[in-house]
Amino acid sequence: MIDLHTHTTFSDGTDTPTQLINKALAAGITTIALTDHDSISGWQEATSALRPGICLVPGAEVSCQTLDGISVHILGLLFDSSNTALIDTLEKTRENRYCRMEKIIAKINEAGIDISMSDVLEQLSDGATLGRPHLADALVKKGVVTSREEAFAQMLHNHSKYYVSHYSPTPEAVIKLIKEAGGVSVIAHPMASHRGRTISLDTFGSLIQAGLDGIEVDHRDHSPQEKTQLIALANESKLIMTGASDYHGNGKLNLLGEYTTEPAQWQKLEERANARRVLSV
Ligand code: AMP
Ligand code: ZN
Ligand code: FE
Ligand code: FE
Repeated sequence: MIDLHTHTTFSDGTDTPTQLINKALAAGITTIALTDHDSISGWQEATSALRPGICLVPGAEVSCQTLDGISVHILGLLFDSSNTALIDTLEKTRENRYCRMEKIIAKINEAGIDISMSDVLEQLSDGATLGRPHLADALVKKGVVTSREEAFAQMLHNHSKYYVSHYSPTPEAVIKLIKEAGGVSVIAHPMASHRGRTISLDTFGSLIQAGLDGIEVDHRDHSPQEKTQLIALANESKLIMTGASDYHGNGKLNLLGEYTTEPAQWQKLEERANARRVLSV
């Protein structure tokens, strides 16, 4: 089983990379991609945790924004971690998430809810990418809501009056950076409409022009109709199709291996990287 999209405590997942590898092995996964938000900090621990029977695809889920303000997540896989242009871009996004969080907190405070930056940072593991899920955890601890799910449904979703976006490069720029770093790019959950506005067919065209390799088709946030549309688009545009769990530990309902990628699709994707970077023991 191949699962190409997961998160750990190095972003907003709740399992450490070691726990992730152990649980993946127990779940029958043979190839797992680690794709923390805007970070490669978990790669080292995940690599050390590898055991026979499972291989690791190093990656990151890069936060992007189109020029018309639509949030897009690009999964970068198998890129060279010594490529400074890409790594610097990830770092800039990670840093900007702090002032963005301050702004969200200020809006929540204005509504009379007592929460501070230090409450949020208390929920963040060392070296992790800061995100709304950590604010959700702080709101749970304060007793404002009872779960991350409730926090997002009531307060933290993209249409909320508290919402603030953070600096993000365009998806076209990120696809090019990933390609220049020798990796491959897959657009994550492109039709997850409940998260906010999704991209148009024109924008898809622009991403393909920039060198997009694949589309995440099988994902819990896609309806059967959306999957059918994405399969048609992938076939038409000769894009590789993936499926993945977007596992976040206890942070989300998504279960490891709940959606997977066909071995033939994975083989095509892996071959597009400019070096063999899948890790195993
Ligand atoms: P941010 O990166 O700060 O914009 O926050 C987005 C993150 O929140 C994504 O990684 C999602 O996985 C997570 N997220 C979005 N909706 C929910 C939800 N309903 N419950 C838990 N996590 C969510
Ligand atoms: Zn996440
Ligand atoms: Fe995502
Ligand atoms: Fe994700």
